[in-house]
Amino acid sequence: MTAERHILILGGTTEARRLAAELAAEPALRVTSSLAGRVAEPRLPAGQVRIGGFGGSEGLARWLREQQVDALIDATHPFAERISFNAARAAAEVHVPLLALRRPGWVPGEGDHWHPVASLAEAADVLPALGERVFLTTGRMGLAAFAHLSGQWFLVRSVDAPEPPAPPRMEVLLDRGPFTVAGERELLRRHAIDVLVTKDSGAAATAAKLTAAREAGIPVVVVRRPPVPEGVRVASGVGEAVGWVWSTLG
Ligand code: NAP
Repeated sequence: MTAERHILILGGTTEARRLAAELAAEPALRVTSSLAGRVAEPRLPAGQVRIGGFGGSEGLARWLREQQVDALIDATHPFAERISFNAARAAAEVHVPLLALRRPGWVPGEGDHWHPVASLAEAADVLPALGERVFLTTGRMGLAAFAHLSGQWFLVRSVDAPEPPAPPRMEVLLDRGPFTVAGERELLRRHAIDVLVTKDSGAAATAAKLTAAREAGIPVVVVRRPPVPEGVRVASGVGEAVGWVWSTLG
């Protein structure tokens, strides 16, 4: 293989950081990670980092061409729908091989009371029938979907402070994972939480709340993932993605 093949990782997840660390250790590869710039102090991955949007699929296609990217890995959060769509479009346009890295979703176990919904709006619709003290862990960006619920009290956990519109009765807890079962158990108890809302991120770092909810017999509203863009190849783990890079670059 000729030196310095360029890999672009669309990041913002634990898996993206782990993948960057593995690939950046390879002398034959130049690795750039791209972050959206939503988090004020992001955990920076190994290798080069660029921050901010590309300007739609056209901007991303231009960047891939100008920076002579040899392979693109969309390792964004399973709910970051727009960037994944842009990646599929841009990669097809400039003929750069694309892989989506998606950790598997969570699976309910015995004793779980899960209510799967298709969107945050649907989560807000089912909430009043399920509880009054809500632990909301879907991130600060989608808070507007719950802003009309005045009958519920919300504990909102997010990395950075949310902005309005937001529910009228809420407390904000600024924190980021990994979280422990003991910590989550204590949080549910202290705030007398009777319903949890989460996206099906599948992340190990944030799965402890599901165990704590199961133990406490609390219902969980689980927002299902949007589909990966049609035709895009998917890897479920970092090792598989690394293997794909080598087989793709030849
Ligand atoms: P999104 O709705 O899919 O993307 C919105 C716009 O943000 C994109 O069109 C793109 O702007 C820019 N963008 C997103 N990810 C980018 C990246 N990795 N590098 C450069 N630009 C990016 O995404 P989102 O849901 O707002 O999530 C933003 C980032 O946060 C993602 O990278 C994701 O991995 C991470 N994240 C998201 C969630 C979540 O629940 N959605 C949770 C944890 C982490 P342009 O069109 O200008 O290129």
